[in-house]
Amino acid sequence: MPTPTSAPAAPFALPATLRVFERGWLSANNILFVDGDETALVDSGYVTHSAQTLALVEAGLGGRPLRRLINTHLHSDHCGGNAALQARWQPRTAIPAAEAEAVRRWDAEALSFVETGQQCDPFGFDELLRDGDELMLGGIAWRVVAAPGHDPHAVMLYAPDERILISGDALWENGFGVIFPELDGESGFAEQAAVLECIAGLVPKLVIPGHGRLFSDVEGALARARGRLGHLRADPRRNASHAVKVLVKFKLLEQGSMRLDALQAWMEAAPLMQRIHARFLSEQPLGAMLDEVVRSLAGIGALALQDGLVVDRG
Ligand SMILES: [Zn+2]
Repeated sequence: MPTPTSAPAAPFALPATLRVFERGWLSANNILFVDGDETALVDSGYVTHSAQTLALVEAGLGGRPLRRLINTHLHSDHCGGNAALQARWQPRTAIPAAEAEAVRRWDAEALSFVETGQQCDPFGFDELLRDGDELMLGGIAWRVVAAPGHDPHAVMLYAPDERILISGDALWENGFGVIFPELDGESGFAEQAAVLECIAGLVPKLVIPGHGRLFSDVEGALARARGRLGHLRADPRRNASHAVKVLVKFKLLEQGSMRLDALQAWMEAAPLMQRIHARFLSEQPLGAMLDEVVRSLAGIGALALQDGLVVDRG
């Protein structure tokens, strides 16, 4: 389990009402707002880290209840702690508007958990987030900004006065999340390009990403992201094979270690994996595709292969 850290105050001088819990890749970062009794959390990590998320939030709240919970998008690493937080404090929960129906009837397929072979405990919601909405968090005015591309329903939060952007998986210091719609032959690269230009137009001076540390060299991050997007767009198979690597690595982060045959069984049971294989990588059997991914991840030290056991390397 990655060690959570509180982001350093310097050199960013965060507002006193805002704290960032930098997590890892299995659990997205959490942003906690405490302004008197007005408290809120943005994103809640992965379900297997729920106890750690609760402990971090409880310590940060200093005895106050959590009143609001907000999700940038409903991938399992951003909303997996929702159920536990709701059980503990019953916060008013806001989700991207386009996900309302799927959450209301808890459609685990539409919500991607079945498709990706990931887990998430069911949760409810009270409010919807739409592009252009305004909300106060930590005594700061934030605007909801639509951020399709990585996830068609994702939103970001931007504070124009402070020029702080909570970007979710739309922009990281080095890149952005997998462009999921393209894996099913739907448009995502064009939307991602537009989101990057939207961010450039906002001119944030600080970005709090969904994963990784805070960064203030936004121009540099945008340049890297544009370069990465161009590379993926030039051959969509690159996005597909990257997605397979990310999903395998994510599963290993969740499990710690798995037998190679169990990993293959998981892959065969995840509908999105089947579709990626059929659409982009069908020149070799799925087992051979997995072997290649495991070798590739081992080559960069992301996992180790020991007697048929695939071991995560953090
Ligand atoms: Zn995501």
